[in-house]
Amino acid sequence: MEYRFLGKTGIRVSRLCFGTLTLGPLQANLSLGEGAKLLETAFALGVNFLDTADLYETYPYIKRAIRHLKEKPVIASKSYDYTRAGMKESLQRVLTELDIPYIDIFMLHEQESELTLKGHRDALEYLLEAKADGLVRAVGFSTHTVAAVRAALTMPEIDVVHPLINMKGIGIQDGTAAEMLAAINRLHRQGVGIFAMKPLGGGHLISDSDAAFRFVLEQECLDAIAVGMTSADEIRYNCALFSGQAVPPGMGEQLRQKKRKLVVQNWCAGCGTCIGYCPQGALRLQDGRAVVNTNDCILCGYCGAHCPDFCLKIY
Ligand code: SF4
Ligand code: SF4
Repeated sequence: MEYRFLGKTGIRVSRLCFGTLTLGPLQANLSLGEGAKLLETAFALGVNFLDTADLYETYPYIKRAIRHLKEKPVIASKSYDYTRAGMKESLQRVLTELDIPYIDIFMLHEQESELTLKGHRDALEYLLEAKADGLVRAVGFSTHTVAAVRAALTMPEIDVVHPLINMKGIGIQDGTAAEMLAAINRLHRQGVGIFAMKPLGGGHLISDSDAAFRFVLEQECLDAIAVGMTSADEIRYNCALFSGQAVPPGMGEQLRQKKRKLVVQNWCAGCGTCIGYCPQGALRLQDGRAVVNTNDCILCGYCGAHCPDFCLKIY
C-alpha cells in the first residue's frame, strides 16, 4: 500500500481510504459483524484511513473493528452542525461512540460556498478550539463544489478538504472536472491535505472503472481517495490497484457487474422532505411519490437519512 502525508498535517494515510458510508443503514446495511470484518480485511491489506460521518451511522462498525488494534487507523468524520453547541455534541459523540481520546480529522459536512462556510463559522471556531485542546488533530470540510474549494484558498485555518472529483466531473455542482482539479491543485500547493471522494461518480463510471481509478491515482494533488466498498473481493481488488500490483484476473469484470441504484419504497407518502436534501437535484415528486432521476443521482445516500419513513435505500 502506498502512504502519503495529508498536506501539512503530519498525518500519514494510505492512499486508499475506506469510505464507510456503504456499510451502514443508508446503503448495504450490513450486520455489525459483517461490516467490522470488511474493515479488518482492509486493515490487513494496509489500509489505515477511514472516512465516516455523524450522518452515516457507521461508528459501531468502526468501534468493533478497531477495539483490539494497538495502532489505530486514521479516522475522519464530519457533521452538518452549524452551531458551536451542536458541533461540540457531534465531536463528543464520535469520541464516545468510538471510545477514542481524540479524532484525527473532523470536518464540516458538505459545504457549498464561501457563504455556507460563513454560516458555519461558529461550528468551525469550536473545532479550532477542540484542536488546540488536543481533541482533534486536523479540521476542514467536505464539498461537492468548486466554489467551496476556492473559498478555502483564503482560509489558513483549514487543514484538510474532502472534495468530489472524478474523470467526468459527475456530481460536481458548479463546474467541470478540470475546474475542480485546478482549484484542488492550488489548495494542495498551499499545504492543505486533500482526500477525494466519488472517484466512480457514485457508480456511473463503474463500466469504465479502470480508467476512472487511473485518473484519480494520477493526480498528485490527491493525497488519498475515499472509496466505498461492500465485499472482501472489492477490497482486495482496490488494494491491489492502489498498490500498483496486478489485480486478480477476472475480478474487475465481476465487480463491474455490480450496479447499485436508489430505490423509493412503495410506502412513500410524498411528503417531499427528501427533495431539499439531495445535493444533485435528482429527486422530484410525481403522482404523490418521490421519483429519482438515475442519471443525476450519485448514490450519496443523503436523502435516505432524512426520510421519516425510511423509504429510500440504495441496493
Ligand atoms: S437522490 Fe439521494 S442518493 Fe441520489 S444524489 Fe440525491 S441525495 Fe444522493
Ligand atoms: S421523505 Fe420519504 S416519504 Fe417523504 S417524499 Fe421522500 S421518500 Fe417519500
